Amino acid sequence: MDLGKKLREALSKLTNRPYVDEDAVKALIKDLQRVLISSDVSVKLVFQLSKKIEERALKTKKLEALSLREHVMKVVYEELVELMGTAYAPRLDKHRILVAGLFGSGKTTSVAKVAHYYKTKGLSVGVVGADVDRPAAQEQLEQLAKQVNCAFFTIKGEKDAAKIVRDALTRSKEDVIIVDSAGRSAFDDQMVGELKAIAQALNPDETYLVVSADIGQVAGKQSEEFNSAVPLSGVLVTKMDGSGKGGGALSAVSATGAKIAFIGVGEKMGDLEVYDSQRFVGRLLGVPDLKGLMEKVERIAQETDVSKLATEDLTIETFYEQLKAAKKMGPLGNVFSMLGAADLPKEFVQQSEDKLKKFESMINSMTKQEKKDAKLIRKQPARITRIAKGAGCTEKDVREFLSQFEKMEKMMGQFQKNRGFRKKIEQMLAGGQIGNMKLS
Ligand code: GDP
Ligand code: MG
Repeated sequence: MDLGKKLREALSKLTNRPYVDEDAVKALIKDLQRVLISSDVSVKLVFQLSKKIEERALKTKKLEALSLREHVMKVVYEELVELMGTAYAPRLDKHRILVAGLFGSGKTTSVAKVAHYYKTKGLSVGVVGADVDRPAAQEQLEQLAKQVNCAFFTIKGEKDAAKIVRDALTRSKEDVIIVDSAGRSAFDDQMVGELKAIAQALNPDETYLVVSADIGQVAGKQSEEFNSAVPLSGVLVTKMDGSGKGGGALSAVSATGAKIAFIGVGEKMGDLEVYDSQRFVGRLLGVPDLKGLMEKVERIAQETDVSKLATEDLTIETFYEQLKAAKKMGPLGNVFSMLGAADLPKEFVQQSEDKLKKFESMINSMTKQEKKDAKLIRKQPARITRIAKGAGCTEKDVREFLSQFEKMEKMMGQFQKNRGFRKKIEQMLAGGQIGNMKLS
């Protein structure tokens, strides 16, 4: 099970409690500890984090607009963001990059991915095969360079990596030069010597270390070792897609003070992301683009007639407004889960435009009474026939709409047990709720 899912489960335990008190916060912290340690975050970091969360959650003053539950969520979110590092901004001018790392970490693949990244930014790129220990690595890089359509430099058969680099520099005219260096199965003096020689020849503006997420917290130790040999400007953590230890790797690297620059999230050339811990944690918690979502929610709130949503009982019309708002918001379901409710069924969030249009004409064919009390329609099937005719759709369509409405009604009933949940959704749609989740 992945880290995000476990974190969301731990947080939803908190939000499902009838009220939040000190014991609830302590139970949450215990859950978080278990989840993070199982993802290979170092015990020391986990305890530092727990202490901070406990202090901030229970002892600092919360914003007036927030309930304790929301305050705790905000603290947890912010502390996780802090634990997982910062955001990186790659330079977009002419520059030279040295890439270091052990065998199998994903170094050669990453050189090509980074080349692809800069190409998408409109820069010309050349990659240099200076891994002299494995001729196959040079061929691999040559192939990948063709794939991403960038220049490739090497001297086949040459054993002096620095010489390959010097030669490439005299021949290349590209904006960005990226050098793939020799890896080793372990950090040793010979590799350090080679790296230093390449660094001297290249005079790199940026030096990235490639580590694989599956080594977990060992990534921290590796960053320190490499940094002592050649000063690192950033770490590229690969295989974030396949490892349960990604959180451990990221937190350990950032604890050393090194920056996480990129993360590799797959084998394809496009599977590279510029790192941003806020976005990363947002995604773990089920809100992929928290900042973007907040802006979107505010915009949609202005377009949506919120007064229609503010009524206590769910009517056909409020339901339709919700569907429309949900459709515009897209990841709304994820906000629900962040607030601790169950994820909304996909069918609610992702109605097709066609369906929404059909629903609208059904609603237009309903009497005022029917809109207020959907049970009327179920009680007298003739009404279904009439609505279907009026809307130009089948009776089956009408029944489908009704059953979705009934499902929502049932869920709303469950939400209401979760004190004030309805209100939260309404505030959220009004922009207030989400605004409060903003990082200060
Ligand atoms: P090197 O020895 O460090 O140069 O490693 P390679 O670049 O040859 O990569 C080793 C293996 O890891 C290859 O099969 C790559 O496709 C794979 N790999 C690299 N980065 C990623 C990643 O982000 N995700 C996944 N799933 N595989 C990756
Ligand atoms: Mg390689």
